[in-house]
Amino acid sequence: MRNDELIALDRAHVWHPYGPMPGRTDPLVVESASGVRLRLAEPVEGRGELIDGMSSWWSAVHGYNHPVLNEAVRGQLDRMSHVMFGGLTHEPAVRLAARLVEITPEPLRHVFLSDSGSVSVEVAVKMCLQYWRSLGRPEKQRMFTWRGGYHGDTWQPMSVCDPDGGMHELWTGVLQPQVFVDAPPVTYEESYAELLRTEIGKHAHELAAVIVEPVVQGAGGMRFHDPEYLRVLREACDAHDVLLVFDEIATGFGRTGTLFAADQVGVSPDVMCLGKALTGGYLSMAATLSTSRVADGISRGEVPVLAHGPTFMGNPLASAVACASIDLLLSQDWQVEVKRIEAGLREGLAPAAELPGVREVRVLGAIGVVQLDHPVDMAAATRAAVREGVWVRPFRDLIYTMPPYVTGDEDLARICAAVLAAAVAG
Ligand SMILES: *Cc1c(COP(=O)(O)O)cnc(C)c1O
Repeated sequence: MRNDELIALDRAHVWHPYGPMPGRTDPLVVESASGVRLRLAEPVEGRGELIDGMSSWWSAVHGYNHPVLNEAVRGQLDRMSHVMFGGLTHEPAVRLAARLVEITPEPLRHVFLSDSGSVSVEVAVKMCLQYWRSLGRPEKQRMFTWRGGYHGDTWQPMSVCDPDGGMHELWTGVLQPQVFVDAPPVTYEESYAELLRTEIGKHAHELAAVIVEPVVQGAGGMRFHDPEYLRVLREACDAHDVLLVFDEIATGFGRTGTLFAADQVGVSPDVMCLGKALTGGYLSMAATLSTSRVADGISRGEVPVLAHGPTFMGNPLASAVACASIDLLLSQDWQVEVKRIEAGLREGLAPAAELPGVREVRVLGAIGVVQLDHPVDMAAATRAAVREGVWVRPFRDLIYTMPPYVTGDEDLARICAAVLAAAVAG
């Protein structure tokens, strides 16, 4: 198909994330991708190739077209690409579940595989509500969270996303009203810890669970916080009979410097959501892990089943590539790579702090954020980065990057230069 034809059809028929119909700007057409580079069907701003600064939204941690991951998909494709999971099982899903139990915090033992992060959060919420129902406490059906979060775009996840200024403000009054407290401060403050304890205690009678993104709040604003707050949440939940859910869909698989963000303080949740980098960015898959306490509680209830079962549950192709991606990650010194990227981002993004219009520069693990003091001009910022040969996708007042772990130092420096150019232009 010719490029202009393709774009015309795209504009006529295809929705894109968080966009109007048709979109405000023409999307770039990607013809193929390899390593950390996206190859465009036609050059844009003189660039036929872009260095990927986004890992396709946290997911492509090993880069694109990786021979090991390709082989995992191919090998599985020749056996079967899919088979229903009701009444049937298969090695890729079983291996993946066992592997996830092995690498996640100790008490997590049971794995529910689904097709996307949002669905894994739906399942997590359903698990928590059903747990209390099974125990004869159906009034415990609200969720507690801090502001500034993002947990996905389906109904339950939306209800725990940041209620202000976020993408879901439109639905205030329609969504289940959950219990919110202020967003966590960057550093540890005893007064905020006390607020968490007090509010969890006050609402405990109606709370099924606390749900948070540990250490990094992603699409809700790219904010970091002291991991010590996770310990405070754990203790408050234990003291008041409330379950704790960690949404590690963005932070999982090494992004913050530890394999899971919860590992930074050794705190274990009752339920954990994984997605995004789970399959190394190859296929859509997510997982909801739970402890035996939660699983047993549900299974002893009046309706002793977890009534959820996506058609493509446990998809063999996605399971196989997820296993391969986890093995690939753990077979290398990934901490060293994430530290190297962290150092490169710190050095490369530091000059942004001196630019007019920049409020703050922050880096944690393989995540770099430049926050402006005004809403970003997305089109201008994106174009400026493309001119530098780099793909980033700014939003709100944020220009940020979370590059694949395989990004070399030179490419990383170019990503930083592009973020700076985007900050100037946007
Ligand atoms: C992306 C994300 C989700 C939603 O995952 P999808 O696969 O897009 O449905 C949920 N929680 C967090 C923390 C995320 O970053």
